[in-house]
Amino acid sequence: MGIHMQILIAVLLAFKRNWHIIAGLLLGIICGIVFPQSQYPVAHQVFSFVGQAFISIIQMIVIPLVISAIVIGISSVGDNKQLARFGKKMILYYAIITLAAVTIGAVLGIVIRPGEGAKEFINPDIAQELQGVVANMVADNHSNFSQILLNLIPKNPFYSLSMGDMIPIIIFVLIFSIALSKIGEINRPVVSFFESIFAATMKVTDWIMYLAAPGIFALVAASISSFGVSIFQGVGKYFIAIAIGLLIQFAVVYPLMLKIFSKVSVVKLYGAVTEAAMVAFGTASSSATLPLTITCCEKRGISSKICSFVLPLGATLNMDGTALVQTIAALFLTQAYGIELPLIVIVQIALLAAVASSTCAGIPGAGLITIALVLNGIGLTPEQMIVGFSFLFALDRFTDMMRTTANVVSDTVVAAIIADNANEINYELFNNPELQKEII
Ligand code: ASP
Repeated sequence: MGIHMQILIAVLLAFKRNWHIIAGLLLGIICGIVFPQSQYPVAHQVFSFVGQAFISIIQMIVIPLVISAIVIGISSVGDNKQLARFGKKMILYYAIITLAAVTIGAVLGIVIRPGEGAKEFINPDIAQELQGVVANMVADNHSNFSQILLNLIPKNPFYSLSMGDMIPIIIFVLIFSIALSKIGEINRPVVSFFESIFAATMKVTDWIMYLAAPGIFALVAASISSFGVSIFQGVGKYFIAIAIGLLIQFAVVYPLMLKIFSKVSVVKLYGAVTEAAMVAFGTASSSATLPLTITCCEKRGISSKICSFVLPLGATLNMDGTALVQTIAALFLTQAYGIELPLIVIVQIALLAAVASSTCAGIPGAGLITIALVLNGIGLTPEQMIVGFSFLFALDRFTDMMRTTANVVSDTVVAAIIADNANEINYELFNNPELQKEII
């Protein structure tokens, strides 16, 4: 069967499986247009409330899920040499994907020049309103590298847990799990305990997925009702640059990675993870999507051993879509302010974006917070950043939905490659969508 036919079948299958989510998305857009916040504040509040409730419900199981998945993942890998091999490969693939993303972002920023002429659209009122918020975020955002590195060390894991700081939690759980895998049979009670937690969180995920369509409807309606579709005027080039960049990730970088490093079919993989991609688009949160990302991969043939190791780490550390958007956003801002940057500074922006993105949490808007690091790194004044930030704020939800979809799909690309290399894919199931169970 030709590649076009395969893509068509994958798209049709995605529609068939996900018609209610697509209906939620479309209805959300329509209701957002029909009920603008300025005229219907109560409708907007209702949309926001339902959307926030949906995200909170999903997030409530993220911490137990991530911790139990990593503990099981590492202890089931058992033999440390294999773990080290998986770990090294995972970091290598995530690094390649992120470096490709920032390179594409930088090239598009230079070629398309998204910021040209955008200055007039920076709304001074919004800028003032958000001044306090942004100033606090920038102050909180540990604007130097040594502080960022120090903050990664979980001084008190329980404090990090209560604050939901994912990276220190993951570092602690990794160390703890490696220790567990080294102490032999005595680790059984603890590992079984986490196995039960993992099974229960997956069950809760199944239940939560009944809420996916109304949740996504409400989130989309709330965004469109706040900002309207007019927000797209004048910032068209910024969006186009981001859309082209992410499209290149999907159409070139991920397929190339799969082709070079594995024998996984990109069409089959995209078909298998469509639900996760759509929920990522609707929620703009890789962490909130994680339960579904794991479910899609596991139920469609990638072993749980690989999924529970690679996907939770990816959902926290691998943010290639965010890195791409941060690079374009930084160039957009400097261009909007008429600042010409030498190539070396653009390279610096790209590298800073690669680091900044991986320190950001998998929640909506996190990438906008860590972009302060990128801008600080090139010496923009806070005043410039405040106006620029407010502009980015107004647009953020839309770019967030797009970049989060890339963040999630690239995690599954890496999981599929590692699973293929380790002989951990059930190809009979993976290549045969007819055998795959519906998830949402
Ligand atoms: N929302 C993104 C995610 O969850 C992070 C970001 O803000 O870029 O992956």
